[in-house]
Amino acid sequence: MIVENNISLKRFTTIHIGGNSGKIHFPESLDDILSLSKILLLPKTLVIGKGSNIAFSDNGYKFDIVSLRKYVKGKITLFDDNKISVSAGISCARFAKYCHKKSISGFEFLHGIPGLIGGALAMNAGAFNQSIWNHVESVNVINKKGFIENIAGNDINASYRSIDKENILLFLDVILKIDKNKIFDKKILIDFLEYRNRTQPIGQWSSGCIFKNPSKKISASSLIDSLKLKQRKFGGIYISTKHCNYFINDGNGSCDDLVQLINHVTKLVKKKYNIALTKEICIYRDDHE
Ligand SMILES: Cc1cc2nc3c(=O)[nH]c(=O)nc-3n(C[C@H](O)[C@H](O)[C@H](O)COP(=O)(O)OP(=O)(O)OC[C@H]3O[C@@H](n4cnc5c(N)ncnc54)[C@H](O)[C@@H]3O)c2cc1C
Repeated sequence: MIVENNISLKRFTTIHIGGNSGKIHFPESLDDILSLSKILLLPKTLVIGKGSNIAFSDNGYKFDIVSLRKYVKGKITLFDDNKISVSAGISCARFAKYCHKKSISGFEFLHGIPGLIGGALAMNAGAFNQSIWNHVESVNVINKKGFIENIAGNDINASYRSIDKENILLFLDVILKIDKNKIFDKKILIDFLEYRNRTQPIGQWSSGCIFKNPSKKISASSLIDSLKLKQRKFGGIYISTKHCNYFINDGNGSCDDLVQLINHVTKLVKKKYNIALTKEICIYRDDHE
């Protein structure tokens, strides 16, 4: 297993923000993960996937990080004709493409989400009115005692971009149910991708949506847009003109810039609408904000 130390955390986040690391472990097998049990049990150890919903402090993160980006690449197994087992280290896009190739419908929404399946489970990732936990039969996890545990999907309390993972340290893999009543149409995936490309700043350094939508009817993006902000940029971080809930790093952005812009927008939305925006992005610092 590769272990790195004191390297820039920028390249482990899609928004390219963060100082230097402590030890980063890259398990490639279940044995590698189990050998990290003691480290996983430490309170400040952080498990990460593709880093598409996180940023690190400019001072870095000195505690252990376990990155699943090298974990069991290629492991997707179709069984019983209506279930698929997917490893936490598989990317959402790769899984969606696999389903597309096999004419399985229901998982097209995962295609444009640039994270790994483990990160999608941790965040209850979703799009186009669907979320991953609606499809979960069960998950294998490392629990807070350091053991592998199988948990039924129904036993996890999942809500919008959040789940109750009180007893979970790390997602290993998931069994997803295939809804046989869904008719496959190859256009669905193409339409979703086209919509994303048209409405979101794909390909720029961001972490997707910064804030959660306050409700199904009110989007954070429409609130931010309506502020008609004069100051849309702090240092190297600015609000995308294509989608106001995406904050972009122009290449020189720092975590301080990001936090300032988040605070600025939060304050103005609260003042104008009396709505308290909550962050979707997770920002990690040594004191584990
Ligand atoms: C351009 C762009 C578009 C996006 N579009 C969407 C979208 O449409 N819908 C959406 O929901 N999100 C979207 N996102 C946000 C992001 O891609 C998702 O939240 C994704 O699920 C995060 O996965 P990740 O592997 O990158 O997780 P990371 O960012 O690495 O981690 C996110 C959180 O999950 C935890 N975690 C990660 N892996 C595990 C694991 N195996 N076990 C336990 N905990 C773990 C981490 O500790 C952290 O708290 C977008 C992001 C970008 C950059």
